[in-house]
Amino acid sequence: MSPAPAPPVTRAAGAPPTAVDIVGAGLAGALLALLLARQGCRVTLYERRADPRQTVPERGRSINLVLAARGICALERAGILGETRPLLTALRGRMIHEGTGTPVLLPYGQREHEVIWSVGRADLNRLLIEAACRHAGVQVHFNQLCLGVDARGGTLRLRDARGGATREVAAETIIACDGAGSAVRASLADAGLLRVREERLDHDYKELTIPARAGAHAMDPGALHIWPRGGFMLIALPNTDGTFTATLFLPRAGAVSFASLDSASAVRDFFAQQFPDALALMPQLDAEFQAHPQGMMGTVHCAPWHAGARVLLLGDAAHAIVPFHGQGMNAAFEDCAELDRLLQQEGVPCTQAGWKQLFARFQEERLPDAQAIAQMALENYLEMRAEVRDARFVRLKELAMRLERRFPQRFIPRYSMVMFHPEIRYSQALQRGAVQARILEELDAAGAADAPGEPRDPTGRRDPQNRGGPEGDDLAQHLVMQRLPPLPVTSG
Ligand SMILES: Cc1cc2nc3c(=O)[nH]c(=O)nc-3n(C[C@H](O)[C@H](O)[C@H](O)COP(=O)(O)OP(=O)(O)OC[C@H]3O[C@@H](n4cnc5c(N)ncnc54)[C@H](O)[C@@H]3O)c2cc1C
Repeated sequence: MSPAPAPPVTRAAGAPPTAVDIVGAGLAGALLALLLARQGCRVTLYERRADPRQTVPERGRSINLVLAARGICALERAGILGETRPLLTALRGRMIHEGTGTPVLLPYGQREHEVIWSVGRADLNRLLIEAACRHAGVQVHFNQLCLGVDARGGTLRLRDARGGATREVAAETIIACDGAGSAVRASLADAGLLRVREERLDHDYKELTIPARAGAHAMDPGALHIWPRGGFMLIALPNTDGTFTATLFLPRAGAVSFASLDSASAVRDFFAQQFPDALALMPQLDAEFQAHPQGMMGTVHCAPWHAGARVLLLGDAAHAIVPFHGQGMNAAFEDCAELDRLLQQEGVPCTQAGWKQLFARFQEERLPDAQAIAQMALENYLEMRAEVRDARFVRLKELAMRLERRFPQRFIPRYSMVMFHPEIRYSQALQRGAVQARILEELDAAGAADAPGEPRDPTGRRDPQNRGGPEGDDLAQHLVMQRLPPLPVTSG
């Protein structure tokens, strides 16, 4: 039996506000600053970049991102969802572009609200920083590169990114939100306080632009466009200014790879052969391919996420993942919301023992979920670049949706659990997704994929009156009821 948790150690009424230093004013750092300030903490943020309210965003990182229900919930918790809305473009499905013919839409969900959102990283980050800075409890220092921490002594080592002067600042409680290449994580690993494994993917990415046409989007802005080509893919996400950001994901080396695209003519021939419809919309391809950086992707496995009572890693600093499920930012935002929830529940600690206990609880709650989404994100690359082209994949997706309509409390497609159901943990989505995949396979093998759950009338239309059905129906009922306990979801 695990020991009973120690009682929360909280600040006495009238005590000075607890100071928290956050490294990195990116997506997680800025949101967390706001949430902590709302809890009464005095927050100081150190960010290596210049103030994004006064400068143009740096290039080379993903320009736009998918925001889904988990991220939305965190923004709502911080009270800023309303002001975020104008930055968002709804995406209702994947638009699949094969070589020829009209693109085909594969819907993400089946209810009106089951959409995901495209959002510009720079705009969202600026909004979060503005919202944090409106709070009297938040101070941001830009152009401050963190070189590392001394977790035992309680200091942050900083260098002014403009002048190069290095200084040390005393820091009681440090939360590292300095992203996938976290300097804080590296310094803790060097000090032997945690173990890190960084797994780089052997595919890289490059971002390109599909400009607006006559002031409007050149393709349907209500979808994430995918050109799946088996071993690689091109995708495009809409921006609110009428452009799309297209991203080419390709092996780094090999016959068809970034290495093989070693001249302007090689790039153009490759696009003409693989993505002719996209090429027609990309007048700046040559210049952009040359100028834009080739980004790398990978998964960071790290444990523990905290160094005693002093330092906690959060967001990509703790668990960077590959981008194929559109969940890195969402998971980082969910981290922020979870830490906020724990602070609300337990109170802001006023002793080192209290922080240590809080950090340990946070890790205990979030680590299994971070591991689960890391795995699902890797699996989703195969789905996006290859499986979506497969008739069996499409058939099983449709079957999964039919099962969800029939058993809304028990069978929810894995993609939907991850993207639309924040009340279902990532680890639960992974575990139930595996059970569901077996059910789908069994139904497909039994030839039931065309039938179960929704008996058809003689013209082939769904017959909503008839809930009984042929053999496949009974099998589906049996498998779902036996293997999938009900979920705490509303059928919506
Ligand atoms: C190509 C690509 C596409 C993606 N698409 C999606 C998507 O669609 N949906 C999604 O949810 N996620 C997506 N992600 C993942 C997402 O970008 C990250 O998960 C998210 O940015 C994590 O937020 P963060 O605040 O932890 O880190 P970051 O956003 O990286 O912020 C880190 C901050 O710390 C600062 N910093 C770094 N080092 C230091 C230092 N030493 N000192 C001081 N400051 C420092 C940085 O300047 C930055 O401001 C994508 C990632 C990539 C690469």
